[in-house]
Amino acid sequence: MTGMHQKLHDLYDEVAQRNPGETEFHQAVYEVLTSLDPVVTKHPEYADNAVVRRLCEPERQIIFRVPWIDDCGAVQINRGFRVEFNSALGPFKGGLRFHPSVYLGIVKFLGFEQIFKNSLTGLPIGGGKGGSDFDPKGRSDNEIMRFCQSFMTELYRHIGEYTDVPAGDIGVGAREIGYLFGQYKRITNRWEAGVLTGKGLTWGGSQVRTEATGYGTVFFVDEILRARSDSFDGKRVVVSGSGNVAIYAIEKVQALGGTVVACSDSSGYIVDDKGVDLNLLKEIKEVRRGRITEYADARSHAHFVTGRSVWQVPCDIALPCATQNELSGTDATALIESGCLIVAEGANMPCTPDAVKYFAEAGVTFAPGKAANAGGVATSALEMQQNASRDSWTFEETEARLAEIMGRIHDNCLTTADDYGQPGNYAAGANIAGFIRVADAMLALGLI
Ligand code: GLU
Repeated sequence: MTGMHQKLHDLYDEVAQRNPGETEFHQAVYEVLTSLDPVVTKHPEYADNAVVRRLCEPERQIIFRVPWIDDCGAVQINRGFRVEFNSALGPFKGGLRFHPSVYLGIVKFLGFEQIFKNSLTGLPIGGGKGGSDFDPKGRSDNEIMRFCQSFMTELYRHIGEYTDVPAGDIGVGAREIGYLFGQYKRITNRWEAGVLTGKGLTWGGSQVRTEATGYGTVFFVDEILRARSDSFDGKRVVVSGSGNVAIYAIEKVQALGGTVVACSDSSGYIVDDKGVDLNLLKEIKEVRRGRITEYADARSHAHFVTGRSVWQVPCDIALPCATQNELSGTDATALIESGCLIVAEGANMPCTPDAVKYFAEAGVTFAPGKAANAGGVATSALEMQQNASRDSWTFEETEARLAEIMGRIHDNCLTTADDYGQPGNYAAGANIAGFIRVADAMLALGLI
């Protein structure tokens, strides 16, 4: 590990040893620690109070059994998690992920990232994350409901409007939030809107929450472009994934004049040089919950590719919106060779450390997820605000607030990177600015 302060280096070793096998968590910690050298040098009070060490240890970690009965009448057992990482700035806040790859290391990497992301929004939200190794793929609506009810039967005792406020992530959308909320309400006898975000629009949800992560990522890129007097006009864009983040990133790129020529799912990717037909994609993914091959079946000029990476498709702007470590060093090299100018993470930690390093060396602008995808959780905080005041805002008003928040995060990253001698380095700016806000709150609150 080069260029890292000895104390931070020792701390990284300690984290790796204390959390054996949790490679994604180690990676997320490493990425933040590499940026903190100039901060701990300038502010010895952080080291004196062990702020960074405390940040690396979650306040509370909950692991529980989730038993449920499938449609065949067989008993199924999954594992549930909630990692309440840091509540210095507000109640723990972060999504729930239902995916077979979920284990403690994934939940901890996501929870750790969430601390800095939520801090960057400037809103009063701490960091947490949860989920289960439950695989929703191919499960009936009734199975999803029974799973969610069982999951909440344990989780309810740990969460609350002022304690911990879960939301969606991969595999958890408005349908699952509905079943979770219904069970919470039934057990507690409280119609407590602020306990979950991502609720349906007819029962306490916020306008723009569904679109927010994707829109926010594109607003962030728009800020990068504007800062250099450029725009999306005429840009070729590749988006990975075709879930909630990808779909609404595509929608906003198109609205701003760019052309999205490819998107993907776990089976492969489609290329459509005329620009992705969003209505068709929404019909396949949101209504039918189908596979991306169906897109190529319906559009003769588009083609489906399997067994290769979507990053082989040349583009000006790349938006990884699928999952962690989906864009490798090899993919980064392909993007650099095709002339890609900007990479912005719509997903959490989709670029591997090698990829990030290659982008920096090649002068490709890299916007890290904790800044570029903060629009989702920021809009969750707006949902909490509306719930607390028993109000609901229009789509336009909410979207304007989201755009403003993304603009502020962008400027904060850029200014902070400048202040700490790394002009144009959005990753350093995001890590440092996110860290300072939460670190100062931790100092103010005493030894917690
Ligand atoms: N799961 C989303 C994220 O990664 C949103 C979390 C939330 O809205 O609380 O930021």
